[in-house]
Amino acid sequence: MTPRKKTLKSLRCPTCGMLVQPKDEDFPFCSDRCRKIDLGKWAMGVYKIGSPILDPEVLEDLGGFGGGGDSGDE
Ligand SMILES: [Zn+2]
Repeated sequence: MTPRKKTLKSLRCPTCGMLVQPKDEDFPFCSDRCRKIDLGKWAMGVYKIGSPILDPEVLEDLGGFGGGGDSGDE
């Protein structure tokens, strides 16, 4: 459990986790360096490009799949 208030978790640099201000020119990264590191990850395939989770159609599908209660458990 992580004690957290209403913190916008998106205000953290995806690369190093440092807090970032939305007004920062490199937002959501803390620096241009972290931005390039993140781009490098994409290039290396660390992130799955085209992840089904990011696909709205799949999200809809998941919504019907997990929220129906029709899992055959009788
Ligand atoms: Zn960073």
